[in-house]
Amino acid sequence: MGKHVTRKTGPFKPDLARERWIPPDNHGRPQDPASWAHPGDGFWGRFFTTMWDAWGDPYWWPGRNAWECAVGAVLVQNTTWKNAGRMIPLLRDAGWDNAPALLEAPVPELEQTLRPVGYYRMKTRKLRELATWWVARDVDNGGVDKLPDELLRDELLSIWGIGPETADDILVYSFGRPWFVVDAYAIRVRQRLLGNDAKPTYDELQAEVHAELPRDYMLMHQLHGMVVNLCKLVCRAKPKCEQCPLLDRCAFGQSRS
Ligand code: SF4
Repeated sequence: MGKHVTRKTGPFKPDLARERWIPPDNHGRPQDPASWAHPGDGFWGRFFTTMWDAWGDPYWWPGRNAWECAVGAVLVQNTTWKNAGRMIPLLRDAGWDNAPALLEAPVPELEQTLRPVGYYRMKTRKLRELATWWVARDVDNGGVDKLPDELLRDELLSIWGIGPETADDILVYSFGRPWFVVDAYAIRVRQRLLGNDAKPTYDELQAEVHAELPRDYMLMHQLHGMVVNLCKLVCRAKPKCEQCPLLDRCAFGQSRS
């Protein structure tokens, strides 16, 4: 048994505040944290409460409106947020900051603007496919507001280049639907906290979270941000367990030598 990791300094609390957008509440409840459903004391509920108490609001997802959140969800594929996030102001500066304008943009110029984000030709096409759906569905004028969650998700998944993670990003961060976004970070945190190598599929882990937590979109909205921030800042490939709010209950952290 290796020696236990202990905190060498006071609690680490990152400064996470930044621009982000929260969709209007589709379910008639305000966005005040006091109004959110209690996450409970299951695995993910305790994760949520511990992270909220330690680091507070994760300020996720970056963007100024539903369209920008959706654009970010496409651009972040196969790259970092640092890289993808730099594209949003460039699109604004070019005047391509809404779906109709993006469709008017000359494709070669749009591709060159997106070149630094990687896979730029593919991502240009993906954004154009998304924008075509966005305009056809009249999203900016409430065209999908009454569409049930499952049907909206199916429509997103039917768009070329939109897979489950991107669809769920858009579902929760652009449209305020109560879906958990699964990513490699969520699998890593689950493995380390539980001290096993179990690697649930996307659907399995999403179903686990949906079964445990109340289907409150603000819980889902915040939970993914908490997972991302935790893994970006401390639960890295080489973790900084001594700075982690979850150390006391983490099997991996407690067993490190
Ligand atoms: S204690 Fe370490 S391994 Fe466990 S969740 Fe925190 S950073 Fe990750």
